[in-house]
Amino acid sequence: IEYKNAKFTISAPNIASLATDEGFEVAFAGRSNAGKSSALNTLTEQKSLARTSKTPGRTQLINIFELDEQRRLVDLPGYGYAKVPLAVKQKWQKSLGEYLQKRESLAGLVVLMDIRHPLKELDQDLIFWAVDSELPVLILLTKADKLKQSARNKVLQEVRQASINFEGDVEVELFSSLKGTGLPALKRKLNG
Ligand code: GDP
Repeated sequence: IEYKNAKFTISAPNIASLATDEGFEVAFAGRSNAGKSSALNTLTEQKSLARTSKTPGRTQLINIFELDEQRRLVDLPGYGYAKVPLAVKQKWQKSLGEYLQKRESLAGLVVLMDIRHPLKELDQDLIFWAVDSELPVLILLTKADKLKQSARNKVLQEVRQASINFEGDVEVELFSSLKGTGLPALKRKLNG
């Protein structure tokens, strides 16, 4: 799959507004600032692909990037903003829950977490949801370059150990947009 051919197609507030529900899509999710945009840009070798999703007014929307006729990458709204009003959070949770449960073409979920702040409550909620929906999950521990190798590997082992509790298909890899760490593992998983 040529990830560099990814093209922004649509922003939508809920799945009813998304186009067809055919083929396969893999959704990217994470707390705001986890490094999701950087990871999408690194994967697609495009400097500002995911900037589209950060355009004011689009941050709460589901953004779709088409790879080819059958495959899409989906940028889900970042979560965990302290300042977002409760009503907005609830609306977001509703559209996210709906997306995970009802989207037929959803084939897997990539959950990005800053390696220095892994497995926060909202991350865990999301992963439990995905596992309930029988979706495979790939956890990327982002900004891995921020830690020394020994510290990095320690977190990797800890998160792998903790992931057993999800009782689903949950894999964990290190990732760094800066260094390209984890990019082959991400592509392997997406291709599979
Ligand atoms: P998003 O809110 O999840 O889309 O996060 P961004 O991709 O915008 O990244 C948030 C911040 O983390 C930015 O300042 C990025 O430059 C930084 N960042 C993202 N990925 C990496 C990485 O792999 N290494 C380092 N050192 N910084 C990163």
